[in-house]
Amino acid sequence: MGFNQKMYGLGSKRSIIREIFEYSKARAKEIGADKVFDFSLGNPSVPAPKEVNETINELLATQSSVLLHGYTSAQGDAGVRKTIADNINERFNVGITPNHIYMTCGAAASLSICLKAVIEENSQDEVVVFAPFFTEYRVFIENAGGKIVVSQPLEKTFQVDIKDFESRINENTKAVIVNSPNNPSGVVYSEDTVKALCEVLKKKSEEYGKVIYLIADEPYRELVYTGVNVPYLMNYYDNTLVCYSYSKSLSLPGERIGYIAVCPTMEQGNDIYLAVCGAGRSLGYVCAPSLFQQVIARCISAKVNIEAYKENRDLLYDNLTEYGYECVKPDGAFYLFVKALESDAYKFYEKAKSHEILVVPCDDFGVSGYVRIAYCTSKETVVNALPAFKELAEEYKK
Ligand code: PLP
Repeated sequence: MGFNQKMYGLGSKRSIIREIFEYSKARAKEIGADKVFDFSLGNPSVPAPKEVNETINELLATQSSVLLHGYTSAQGDAGVRKTIADNINERFNVGITPNHIYMTCGAAASLSICLKAVIEENSQDEVVVFAPFFTEYRVFIENAGGKIVVSQPLEKTFQVDIKDFESRINENTKAVIVNSPNNPSGVVYSEDTVKALCEVLKKKSEEYGKVIYLIADEPYRELVYTGVNVPYLMNYYDNTLVCYSYSKSLSLPGERIGYIAVCPTMEQGNDIYLAVCGAGRSLGYVCAPSLFQQVIARCISAKVNIEAYKENRDLLYDNLTEYGYECVKPDGAFYLFVKALESDAYKFYEKAKSHEILVVPCDDFGVSGYVRIAYCTSKETVVNALPAFKELAEEYKK
């Protein structure tokens, strides 16, 4: 067949989330949207802060078309990058400059670019990810020419199992992706976890005489509910690239805006930054959306109202655990990672579906026997779903 079969495979393989999404729409037509409890998608339900919309209007009324709709330089508008660098320094004191910031079309682009920048051509390079992990990591790593290696978590807490992690590193390890707060577990890696993980990286880098890059995937950084600290990885490990996104932190997933921050103390950091620029170029990104670069710079301190997520989290966690479900109490993101009530998560998903509850079976996230509940829904959906969750649990007790 005269075209790329790997890409065909990616495009034609039905992702379970897409399948659920389509089912949900069709089912809502049959029985009414209020009777379908769809917890499948990580699409923010909380609106963008009002200053975002006000800023868009103000920009449209006052700024030139070139500034708002023209190309920016490939790495992004210099003023925007300065605002972001200043903000990072204020919060994390890492001495970063605008020349370490590269504007992107969200975390997905940031990850693809970072992986392309560090994975060498025709190499045996491996990238370690921590289960449970965002399923697209596999796609991004393989597309950049790397091999995905999965480290299994500690049972119950879903923190990193440091011993397991250490055993996954070898002379081919090029990078490690850390996602905290985590999709799909909602777990925030503790400072102890981060310190231990970075110690392993330093030890192994020395042992193999090479740099191992730490890629911090941080779209959920601002979504924490308990005041827990989300360690900023550059403060623990020099060879860190941060992939940030405003998709969740400002509820702007469709606008495709985020950035890469290269740690200023990274070995050959300036060259890695140039490799990032090259990777962005080779992947055809050209530049991040100009209007939203300007919006971000003006709304750098804006915050979404995360109280609504917290309320949903508490309602679901408190009630589900009372009904007999097991799950770790998530400190962040907007996901609950629940142990299926039978060993086969897919069968459990089917049974939940018969109660009109739509959750995502998580085998593809690297942990079997669990489902993900995305609680970025209305409170009404959560409240109305509770009796169905209860009935589902009771059915398993029979
Ligand atoms: N990383 C994780 C862990 C995610 O959950 C997502 C989106 O859900 C992304 C990256 C991609 O986010 P973005 O919309 O910024 O590309």
